[in-house]
Amino acid sequence: MMKTNNLGLYIHIPFCLKKCHYCDFYSEAGTDSAIRAKYVDSLCSEIAWYGGRLGLASEDGGRLVDTVFIGGGTPSILDAGQTARIVSTIFDSFRVAEDAEISMECNPATLTAEKLAAYRKAGINRLSMGVQSMEPSVLEIMGRAHGPEDVISNFRLAREAGFDNINLDVMFGVPGQDMEIWKDTVHKVLALEPEHLSFYSLELAEGTEFYRRLASGQLKETAPEKDREMYHWMLETLDGCGYEHYEISNAAKPGCRCRHNLKYWNLEDYLGLGAAAHSFIADKRFSNPEDVSKYVDSWQTGNPAVDWHQENTWEDSLTDYIFTALRKTEGIGKKDFAERFGREFWDVFADRRAEFEEYMAAGDAAEDNEGVCITRKGMDIASELIALFL
Ligand code: SF4
Repeated sequence: MMKTNNLGLYIHIPFCLKKCHYCDFYSEAGTDSAIRAKYVDSLCSEIAWYGGRLGLASEDGGRLVDTVFIGGGTPSILDAGQTARIVSTIFDSFRVAEDAEISMECNPATLTAEKLAAYRKAGINRLSMGVQSMEPSVLEIMGRAHGPEDVISNFRLAREAGFDNINLDVMFGVPGQDMEIWKDTVHKVLALEPEHLSFYSLELAEGTEFYRRLASGQLKETAPEKDREMYHWMLETLDGCGYEHYEISNAAKPGCRCRHNLKYWNLEDYLGLGAAAHSFIADKRFSNPEDVSKYVDSWQTGNPAVDWHQENTWEDSLTDYIFTALRKTEGIGKKDFAERFGREFWDVFADRRAEFEEYMAAGDAAEDNEGVCITRKGMDIASELIALFL
């Protein structure tokens, strides 16, 4: 896909009801409403501030924003009025495309008919719900704050509110989850007929409750071959239900791919706002402090804090592009590559070609006139294939 000049906005809401046992994302659990209110004030200040640089108040009227993703954390923990204020500040500050995809992450048990109606009214047109499992014992092991019945009731409420573009996240390779439990979860989420599904293999991150329990022998890790069996069973099941597998961990009904996430995978520009949010604009990477208090203080005192930044070299952008674009099932387009990097793909990677051909012979990679990609079989060794070009 060709790079456009459009901009994606990512808004980070770093609050959760409680910390899940496997999670190492930046989020805070059990915060009080006063902190959340201050955070929303700061976030709106930041949105307006960037509106003066990249949005409506900039000299040229700014770049067209065609995707917005409100993620977390658990954004649906905010009051409906706070969410509506964030979205209206975006509309007041940026030139937003009429057909913009405006997504919001939510967790089951945090939605109500009133909240959903307010989201629709504000302009949110896509929801992404963290289901993870439909088995109560697995949800308990994961430390999730909801039960399977919350998924079904909240999904129905979302449909009734008019949401016709919904993603459900599920997770496999979780301790305590065997093949039968996994199949049951997938069948139950497919019965809801979501437009999009994300399916992640559990990653064991240091510092999490899961890591501690596994290290102390309280939990047992899923065997790699079992994890792969779950993944491939999922893909085959999705094939039979009209979903297109378009990225290692994502599948969608035709026309329902997540346009915002495709910006990351296609190395397009996005602006991240809120604590810990990362941005990539005009080959520059930068991020906000991973600390709510520091972030709020910086906006209350009018001294925006950027924690880290880097100007990508040609090689950095090449690495970033390979890393994300090869995750897509369509892989890397040769024409797109040549336009971005000013050189042909196999001219840059001539010394890797023989090794790539060995992967092709093994059925793990493929090439045609259009581009190169990792095959479904090769998804199991995707990191190894990506590393070949890094
Ligand atoms: S709800 Fe999401 S962000 Fe929050 S702790 Fe659980 S996995 Fe992490």
